[in-house]
Amino acid sequence: MSGLESLYQELILDHAKNRRGFGLAGSDADATSHQRNPICGDEITVRVRMEGDRVASLTWEGAGCSISQASASMLAELAAEGLDRTGAERLIEGFREAMRSKGTLELDEEEFGDATALSGVSKYTARVKCAMLSWVAFEDALRRS
Ligand code: ZN
Repeated sequence: MSGLESLYQELILDHAKNRRGFGLAGSDADATSHQRNPICGDEITVRVRMEGDRVASLTWEGAGCSISQASASMLAELAAEGLDRTGAERLIEGFREAMRSKGTLELDEEEFGDATALSGVSKYTARVKCAMLSWVAFEDALRRS
């Protein structure tokens, strides 16, 4: 394992253990979305609150494998930095493109922060759904909000 790969591994484990944005706080959300990945048994509910065009908060709850949990935590961290609707949609699209790239596209650290650590997941088709789950939930919640 290269230095970078072990750093990524550590980031994934850290996020899976200390899940950022975990807990569906309050009842003032604009939209929630529940998504399941039956292949792996992951379940995630994302709750989004909008303030005008801005994503004011993204919280989530769920259970599943380290990749699904870490990915949701990384997404929550990104959302906490402040996103507008267009920026969020672009982020989701960029993440999906990288996850479908079978290892040919690396996520850009400037844009994706800790989620960059998930770049390698795209080489393992069976795990792509795990990484995508919270992002799909976020996309769905955005559409409903
Ligand atoms: Zn999984």
